[in-house]
Amino acid sequence: MFVGHYAAALAAKAVQPKAPFWTYVLGAQAVDVAWAVLVLVGVEKMSLDPRLPGNPLVLSYMPYTHGLPAVAAWALAAGLAARFLLKLPRAAAIAVGLVVASHWGLDFLVHRPDLPLGFGGPKVGLGWWNHPAPEQALEMGLLAVAATAWGWRRGLQGHSGWTTPLFIVLLVGLQLVSILAPPTGGAPQMVIASLSAYLLAALFAWLMDQTERRGR
Ligand SMILES: [Zn+2]
Repeated sequence: MFVGHYAAALAAKAVQPKAPFWTYVLGAQAVDVAWAVLVLVGVEKMSLDPRLPGNPLVLSYMPYTHGLPAVAAWALAAGLAARFLLKLPRAAAIAVGLVVASHWGLDFLVHRPDLPLGFGGPKVGLGWWNHPAPEQALEMGLLAVAATAWGWRRGLQGHSGWTTPLFIVLLVGLQLVSILAPPTGGAPQMVIASLSAYLLAALFAWLMDQTERRGR
């Protein structure tokens, strides 16, 4: 799952607008940002198998980023950071934590059984990646529903709303690039490309926060 994760960020911003948008956007992929870093330094393990349907990822070892207890810890840490470092209101900090936690739930739908329930032991995943068309429809559908909620909320707040469609265009563009022109080369190139996409989306969200602040 890639852009589908941002549905959680959009929905959170619609429900709880007091947190800056970038915290939700980074939060939605915080677990994958950590995963990319841990893979690059060799702590977590993955490889690519182009024969697999839908998505070539073979995620053989990632207990520290995608284990269920690990994600709970990341979510708690993000919520605490939002509350005490960024000084967000309590409800907004909880929303940031929930967005981080949502990553596991959404990954559970699409991953093949590679999500550890603990730091070892059984791994789970419903495996929608094996059915690329419905999987893409799921991601785009989640994004469309959340974007509608967000756009509606922003309309109520009296924002002009040009940045909303632009953000969606950016996400869909990134998704299309990942489908039509998957990074060639090995696993490290693929991980670096993913990490760049997560950081680009977060940077764009931060810029949107700045435009909004100026517009106020
Ligand atoms: Zn993930």
